[in-house]
Amino acid sequence: MDDIVKIWDAVLDIAKDEIPPSTFGPWVLPLVPHNYDGNSFSVLSGQSLAVQIIAKNCQPILVSALKKVVGSEVALNVIYDEELSKKLKKKSAKSRREDLIADLENKLAPSKYESLKQMRSSTNLNLKYKFENFVVGENSKLAYFASTAVAKEPGKKYNPLFIYGGAGLGKTHLMQAIGHQILFEHGLKVKFVTTEEFLNDLINAISHGSDKTTKMNNFRDKYRKVDVLLIDDIQFLEGKQRTEIEVFNTFEALHNAGKQIVITSDRPPENIPALSDRLRSRFQWGLMVDIGVPDLETRMAILQKLARENHMELPFNVVEFLAQVYKNNVRELEGAFNKISAYSALYQNEITVDEVKKIIKYSENKINITIDGIIDAVAEYYNVSVEDLKGTSRFAKIASARQVAIYAAREITGESFPYIGEKFGKKHTTILYSYEKIKEEISKNSELSQDVTDLINKIND
Ligand code: ADP
Ligand code: MG
Repeated sequence: MDDIVKIWDAVLDIAKDEIPPSTFGPWVLPLVPHNYDGNSFSVLSGQSLAVQIIAKNCQPILVSALKKVVGSEVALNVIYDEELSKKLKKKSAKSRREDLIADLENKLAPSKYESLKQMRSSTNLNLKYKFENFVVGENSKLAYFASTAVAKEPGKKYNPLFIYGGAGLGKTHLMQAIGHQILFEHGLKVKFVTTEEFLNDLINAISHGSDKTTKMNNFRDKYRKVDVLLIDDIQFLEGKQRTEIEVFNTFEALHNAGKQIVITSDRPPENIPALSDRLRSRFQWGLMVDIGVPDLETRMAILQKLARENHMELPFNVVEFLAQVYKNNVRELEGAFNKISAYSALYQNEITVDEVKKIIKYSENKINITIDGIIDAVAEYYNVSVEDLKGTSRFAKIASARQVAIYAAREITGESFPYIGEKFGKKHTTILYSYEKIKEEISKNSELSQDVTDLINKIND
């Protein structure tokens, strides 16, 4: 028995440097050595997902470590063990994970946080989002300053803190950074929730017939017995009355108790028409800060930060090129970087602007495609007039063609929402709304998705 424990310890010792901490911490470390018969080594896991995750992410590393330790080829079997799972549940998986995360946090240098991408603690925070790896630019100075101030003295200064701005500009990142700092420095109870999760949770609580009261109480406890509540993307509350009332009550309870509330939204409270006046005014009680689009230098700095974190060398002209292409959305900039990074890991080629153009499927034509050209093409495709697309008709066929045109304009040109708004003669919030709506529908409706892809390809040609 002792032997297999020793073997496994030695295996972990080797493997821990090769397996990313996001896999190692939650999945490999909790494995329990079980049996070794000279040909195969089996380990038990109390987490059913571990079997697949290990097979997918690190089986070969473990097998080769095992070979090094025992000196011959040995098969590794990861077995899901129900008994172990029950025990784990009893011991409260939550506190175990929290310990583990705290432990990893202590061991890791800040530069390694990116490899903890997937890990989430019971507070629902993603360890990737910290103040240390947020690049502050003119666009985000105020939001960053306010966020750090709140993290320093939660519940004291700016309550609530309301952060707003377009998609992919770092709102969630800052909000979660506040959460981490408070969690690790003040040891307070932090809860991060998206408006959507809050809504689902509420529906779940009210849709259970018999034990409705208990469920409702549990729901309320969950959000009111915290020191810091982070609510992401509050604009999705629009029109959901029951949820709004619940957000309001939660807000009141926490605020009265001096607890910190942080809210993000893609627009300021006054531009969320369906919000009740009382909730809107509460959102305006504290501090409202916006995050704008980062300038070229900031975008370049973000890329350089990503490169450093990934131990990659990106030539200056590549950084400059990418920062010029992705102007309006850091998430897209990051997406492009990830593609390039995956590519370079695979081929070990030197990264040049020409390679990058191929990888991101960049075409010079794109910059020549105007929004007016896109409007023409969409009008033709859906057999409606250009005036209709720029107009206000709510006739279903026209309204949906208009939304597709807006979506295509954004996807193809990458222009900012205000700029696209000018071209369509609409407010940027309308543009944003249409864009998000189509984006969501595409994910659910394959026919629409096909249509839009066809259309975009046609325009790009
Ligand atoms: P939002 O919530 O505003 O839509 P996110 O916070 O999810 O945007 O940011 C999108 C991605 O871009 C995240 O991976 C985030 O880490 C990254 N990001 C955004 N702004 C910055 C920044 N200023 N510095 C570093 N990373 C950033
Ligand atoms: Mg977000």
